[in-house]
Amino acid sequence: MAIAEPFDLEGQAVHVNASIGVAVLPADADEADLAMRCADLALYQAKSEGRGTFRFYAPAMNSELQRRRDTERELRRALEAQELELHFQPKCRADTAELAGFEALVRWRHPERGLVMPGGFINVAERTGLILPIGEWVLEEACMAAARWPGYPVSVNLSPVQLRSPRLITTVRRVLDRSGLEPSRLELEITESFLVHDLEGARGVLLEMKALGIRLAMDDFGTGYSSLSYLQSLPFDRIKIDRSFVARLGGATKAEAIVRAIITLAHGLGIATTAEGVEDADQLRFLREIGCDELQGYLFGRAVEAGAIDATINTAQERVSAGSSRPVPVEVPADPALAGG
Ligand code: C2E
Ligand code: MG
Ligand code: MG
Repeated sequence: MAIAEPFDLEGQAVHVNASIGVAVLPADADEADLAMRCADLALYQAKSEGRGTFRFYAPAMNSELQRRRDTERELRRALEAQELELHFQPKCRADTAELAGFEALVRWRHPERGLVMPGGFINVAERTGLILPIGEWVLEEACMAAARWPGYPVSVNLSPVQLRSPRLITTVRRVLDRSGLEPSRLELEITESFLVHDLEGARGVLLEMKALGIRLAMDDFGTGYSSLSYLQSLPFDRIKIDRSFVARLGGATKAEAIVRAIITLAHGLGIATTAEGVEDADQLRFLREIGCDELQGYLFGRAVEAGAIDATINTAQERVSAGSSRPVPVEVPADPALAGG
């Protein structure tokens, strides 16, 4: 597309992309107003499928939009009604199986639908801007919880929308202040999609956070562009290897070569590594052998409610003081939404 060609604006190369929605007349609509609405829905769809593309209107887009509006309305209500919950998944040191910290994961306790996982609402929250108040709540709740437990760090996921918000740094500062949590115990997890569009802007924000003493992790590494220049120019302390690679370990697969290379690369740059989605003892053995630093996955425990954290910590400590670095899962009650599934 001609539009996608970069152009020169006072010496800077500027990239523009366009999304296109198409309505066909008279098949889709018989009047101008309706035609525009159909084209608009198709445009919305094109944007949500990654931008820089086009979509033709289809009647199903109407019901999709309706569903999204319903979720949005429900989510606003849920925020008011305090239906959001924060659960915490343990992370362990790979060599000793000692507890190394927790990742905060948001859930929605829906009065009819039960416990809704982030996959069912984060998207809508991001598109509507509701992720800003939700993200603030998550950050505050996570830091408050971590300030109450002994020493271990807490990881919090940040949406690209939050990272682009001018309020972020002020919010982080205020939350650290109010909770009294040492900044070095807070790790923020960031996905690559935030970095793609504006690398310089991203660098600025990340450096400001580093200046506060916070740690930064690149989440789901290997699934997006995984540009090595991100690792060179951005101040990440940790890479989280996406669980799709971990799931394919075993049997001399390509995944083994990839994971090995990521760990070597990270360590060469002085960056720590965490493998996500570790579910069995073979994966554990391999990841230990190749020097992965931290492991997270159902093998060590699912996300638990804040009330179950003390028990998780106790079990983990007892296990280690009993001299066991066996890959024994930390005995914690399963996430109810996942139980049996
Ligand atoms: P993530 O940050 O990569 O979090 C890890 C996800 O993998 C979690 O799913 C976790 O429950 C799941 N997981 C952990 N161990 C295993 C395992 O052994 N096997 C399998 N199959 N899965 C495992 P969850 O809680 O559904 O969260 C999904 C994603 O939603 C997160 O991926 C994160 O990107 C996003 N998310 C969660 N909480 C928040 C939040 O507070 N704010 C934002 N912006 N995003 C969030
Ligand atoms: Mg994460
Ligand atoms: Mg991840």
